[in-house]
Amino acid sequence: MSYQHVAAPSGTPAATEPPLVSLRGVNKHYGPLHVLQDIDLDVRRGEVVVVIGPSGSGKSTLCRTINRLETIDSGEITLDGQRLPEEGPQLAKLRAKVGMVFQSFNLFPHKTILENVTLGPMRVNSVSKDAAEKRAMELLARVGVDKQAPKYPAQLSGGQQQRVAIARALAMDPEVMLFDEPTSALDPEMINEVLDTMTALAKQGMTMIVVTHEMGFARRAADRVVFMADGRIVEQNTPEEFYTNPQSSRAQDFLAKIL
Ligand code: ADP
Ligand code: MG
Repeated sequence: MSYQHVAAPSGTPAATEPPLVSLRGVNKHYGPLHVLQDIDLDVRRGEVVVVIGPSGSGKSTLCRTINRLETIDSGEITLDGQRLPEEGPQLAKLRAKVGMVFQSFNLFPHKTILENVTLGPMRVNSVSKDAAEKRAMELLARVGVDKQAPKYPAQLSGGQQQRVAIARALAMDPEVMLFDEPTSALDPEMINEVLDTMTALAKQGMTMIVVTHEMGFARRAADRVVFMADGRIVEQNTPEEFYTNPQSSRAQDFLAKIL
C-alpha cells in the first residue's frame, strides 16, 4: 500500500520543530468495528491538513480523538509535545488549545451572537466581560458578522452561523483548529463565504485539520491532503499531487466519484 509522507521543506524553522499535533499508533474500536487502525499523523505548527475519504472511514472519529471527545484504545496523542491525559484539569487545559467547528453549527440558541462568543472565554479562561466583548467584536469583524452581534442564531443564515462558530472557537485562542465538514450542511451559495474565512485563517498561519471534500479549498489552502479509508490513512500528499495523481486504487475510485 502506498504511503507517502510529505516532509517539511528542509531549512524552514518548522522542519526542525516538534509537531504540534502528533498521533502514534492510534487504535479505536466501536464494539467489533475497528474504526481507527494504527493511525500515525504529525501536524506541524502552521500546517493545514485536509482529511478526505469515504463516509464511515473514521474522519470524524479522528477529529474527536484529537481533543479527547473520544477515548482511544491504544497509541498516543500529543499536543505541543504533551500527552493528552484521560481526564482532569490537565485535560481541560490541553483541550482548550484545540478549537473545533462541526458540520452543525452548535451555537447556543438562546444566547445572542455576542454571548455565544464571550461565554467560553469568561467561563473557562476567566476573562472579564469587557475584555471578552472587545475581543469577540474583533473576531466577529474578522469573519464578517460583527453587525449580527445583538441577534440570535436563528436570525442568521447558515453561513453566518458557521462563521460565528469559527469566531467562537478562535475566542479561546486555540493553537490548532479542527473543522469537521464545516460546509456540508450549508446551502451552496453560502459555502464560499465559510471557505473564504477558513482560507484567510490558513493564510494567517493557523494550524488547521480540516475534514472536507472541497477540492478548491484544499488546493488553495492545504499543505497536505490525507486520504482515509476503512479507518486507515491510505495515502497522503500535496493537494496538487493527490488530486492529479492519486496513488492508491481506493483514492482513485473515491476521486472518480466526487470530482
Ligand atoms: P466519517 O466521519 O469518515 O464518515 P466516522 O468517524 O463518523 O466516519 O465513523 C466511522 C465509523 O464508526 C462508521 O462506521 C460509524 O458508523 C462508526 N461510528 C461512529 N461513531 C460511533 C459510535 N459512537 N458508536 C458506534 N459506531 C460509531
Ligand atoms: Mg464525519
